Amino acid sequence: MRFAELAAAYERLEATASRLEMRHQLAELLRPLRDGDLERALYLSQGLLRPEYEGVELGVADSLARRAVATASGAPEPEVARRTKASGDLGTTAQELLGAVARLPGDEPLSVAAVYAALRGIAAAEGEGSQEAKVRALVGLLARASPQEAKFLLRFVLGTLRVGVREMTILDALNEAFADGSKASRAAIEGAFNLSSDLGLVATRLAGDGVGALATIGLEVGRPIRPMLAEREPTLAKVLERMGGRAALEYKYDGLRVQAHVAHDGTVRLFSRRLEAIGPQFPELLTELPKAIRRAPAIVEGECVPIDPDTDEILPFQDVARRRGRKHDLARVQAEVPVCLFLFDVLLDGGTAVYGRDFPERRRRLEQLLRPTERVRLAAQKVVDGVGPAGAFLDEAIAAGGEGVMAKSLREGSAYRAGARGYWWIKYKRDYTVGLGDSIDGVVVGAFHGRGRRAGRFGAFLLAVYDPKRDRFESFTKVGSGFDDAALAEMPEKLARFASEAPPDGVDTGVVPDRWFRPAVVLEVRGAELTLSPVHRAALGAVREGAGLALRFPRFTGRVRSDKGPTEATTSHELLEMYRKQVRQATPDADGDAERS
Ligand code: AMP
Repeated sequence: MRFAELAAAYERLEATASRLEMRHQLAELLRPLRDGDLERALYLSQGLLRPEYEGVELGVADSLARRAVATASGAPEPEVARRTKASGDLGTTAQELLGAVARLPGDEPLSVAAVYAALRGIAAAEGEGSQEAKVRALVGLLARASPQEAKFLLRFVLGTLRVGVREMTILDALNEAFADGSKASRAAIEGAFNLSSDLGLVATRLAGDGVGALATIGLEVGRPIRPMLAEREPTLAKVLERMGGRAALEYKYDGLRVQAHVAHDGTVRLFSRRLEAIGPQFPELLTELPKAIRRAPAIVEGECVPIDPDTDEILPFQDVARRRGRKHDLARVQAEVPVCLFLFDVLLDGGTAVYGRDFPERRRRLEQLLRPTERVRLAAQKVVDGVGPAGAFLDEAIAAGGEGVMAKSLREGSAYRAGARGYWWIKYKRDYTVGLGDSIDGVVVGAFHGRGRRAGRFGAFLLAVYDPKRDRFESFTKVGSGFDDAALAEMPEKLARFASEAPPDGVDTGVVPDRWFRPAVVLEVRGAELTLSPVHRAALGAVREGAGLALRFPRFTGRVRSDKGPTEATTSHELLEMYRKQVRQATPDADGDAERS
């Protein structure tokens, strides 16, 4: 196929607004193509060289592309820059400038295969001298390109191709070009794409051997499956109703969704929700997963969250966000913000594809498959059959640092539905989130042994508020963040006098610390919000029977309130007021297509 045909098709597609019309045009373009040309045309039309998950990038900066246009057209670089500033598109500039240059006659027309090969070469150029090599290759292409071809080449190179064909339109076009256009064949095409995430593969198989051959496309280690997505409901009662009264609830961890592929030889690949390869950001998972997975090859899914190395508590999502896209300093960030992957599904179990099995079987398999380690664990789960136990589990999930619960259907048909959103999974988050402006003065009533860097010391402290009416100290949080080494080192000495063998008189808590202390030392803390908790006892029962108030994501401000005695700490009544003042607002729940799972 000549590249000119592709460029002309892009020109027409760009001018088309109707999706139906786009589909026809695309079907016409693709119908005569097979194998290599079909694959190349598909990837190029999406602005890609390979399926997205392979992460192949051209690595051509704007300035390099400008220089290539200047060289190929003979125009000075400032002129290229000036024109581009006016039109906003280097592609248009290239078209204009090259249109004004007399071409050598007899140049062979560019084929799609030649363009593709040159672009792959540009993408592969790395290291010293690679920038020059990229420019040279681009100049070589431009020298042979028509003005129109040059326009689309540059847009492709800069990632600004505006053809606008989305995956769904391409699937429609494939159905029109290579199948009977029916709903059934469309479903088969989409199904194969959802399993393989590779349009080129789906198209070549379809064009070569027909719809029936799509069934031969299965799961493969190293090639991501498109993720199953959740619906939402506004109340737990509705969640349970949808699921027929009974469901598996899991903590909804607030982190990054990770699809982990563990090959037979122990090689691990990690994919984000958008199927980008993210393994290099999580070296500790690459080494731990082969130890944690008993039967490779396997494909498992989970949520990756930051963990406080000293207290083993889940930290806010932002901390793991710092790891994204980071190439430098990875070792330091890794030590500061280790992550834990909480697995919630298995799709390939020791080489057996199990995504089609119902969820109860997948969960059973996951439990057998996993040998939990510090970094790879099982998502907490409980099967519930009523709003009462569901509410209690929600409180527990939030107290543990989750953002809500994920309900999963246990019914027949609860297979893993790749790439689909449905009521087989329902997410439920609390309906408020606010930052707490006020700080809280909490009394230390217990301490926990540290881990990691804090081994041999205290790593976190159990804090209580005071209820003057009952004259009791009621726990509301466990705080480990915010202590620097000096502050931490001082704590044992400050607390020593108040150590107690048994739970001290006057302390109410459902938490059992490693050491107890009589209420004396007051610490100032801040947190993200107040939530209900099954284990803390502050203002017990005031909001909901059996639930106390808890401070989520607490952080020591650095101030030990030696000016305050224990009964001058924040009171449970004040805490309750703070809870009530938290503005109730709708869940800020972005569309599920956001990167952040
Ligand atoms: P949302 O991003 O709000 O649509 O919620 C769905 C996301 O929750 C998934 O894509 C996962 O990244 C994440 N998640 C956290 N915990 C779980 C869990 N136990 N099961 C499934 N998804 C979970």
